[in-house]
Amino acid sequence: MSKHLTIDREACAGHGICYGAAPEIMDCDDQGYPVLVTDPVPDDLAAKADHLVRACPEQALRLRG
Ligand code: SF4
Repeated sequence: MSKHLTIDREACAGHGICYGAAPEIMDCDDQGYPVLVTDPVPDDLAAKADHLVRACPEQALRLRG
């Protein structure tokens, strides 16, 4: 089943670890904050999205089924 990645804009610090690591999933806006490139996350990118969730130092990302 496809999953949805969500971004907590209040928690996000905008330092770009996520979109730097996975430009096929996330890009950044004019202010350096992440935006989703694809929603839902394609099944073949789900493992990478899960890695982004765990790598975010601000715990600003969630992956929901
Ligand atoms: S890694 Fe987390 S805190 Fe950093 S830009 Fe991405 S969502 Fe925001």
